[in-house]
Amino acid sequence: MDSSPLFSLDESMTKSSPKDADIRASARRGAVFLDRDQTLNVDHGYTHLVDDFAWMPGAPDALSLFHRHAIACFIVTNQGGIGREFFTAAQMREFNDHLVAQAGLAGGHIMDIAHCPHHPKAPSPAMRTPCNCRKPEPGLLLGLAAKWNIDLSASVMIGDRDSDVAAGQAAGCHAYLFDGTDLSGLARHVIDRHFSGARIDDTPGSRNQGGVNA
Ligand SMILES: [Mg+2]
Ligand SMILES: [Zn+2]
Repeated sequence: MDSSPLFSLDESMTKSSPKDADIRASARRGAVFLDRDQTLNVDHGYTHLVDDFAWMPGAPDALSLFHRHAIACFIVTNQGGIGREFFTAAQMREFNDHLVAQAGLAGGHIMDIAHCPHHPKAPSPAMRTPCNCRKPEPGLLLGLAAKWNIDLSASVMIGDRDSDVAAGQAAGCHAYLFDGTDLSGLARHVIDRHFSGARIDDTPGSRNQGGVNA
């Protein structure tokens, strides 16, 4: 498995922010797995340059909402451009670092990122699929679940492709297809339906009173 670094953010920006330990504990009760390209950030096709970073609609609010509810957020992303030698793992990490920092500025918190570097057209056989991690395979989610003790049956996968939904379901999670219009609306729905006991924030508008049980 990939051993992505843990990104730890300064929590001092918001007094009501859940502490890292609280979020880690909450992962055991289920987490949110997010696809990266065209779910969190706009995809330009093998996106890897920091200058090309742009949020998808509602993504900053969605990350902030999850964080205020102490729901651990992880990114699971196919980065076959590494296998195809379009860009390097270091370039991907630079982009990811930027995304994680921007998430922090938005009041969100990304716990960890797992990526698949493999691709069917990779020049190097070692980087070629099949692998157990390229979505729709569930390997990225299973690896994070083992690393962080995540209850997959209480977790939710969100992504813009059928392969994201398939990976989530194969891992035993609930899964949602994001249509690209408003990630915060989908986040509210997911919180209401799957994390209704997690409400810890009293900010008006965070709308989780009497959430529907799954
Ligand atoms: Mg995507
Ligand atoms: Zn892979």
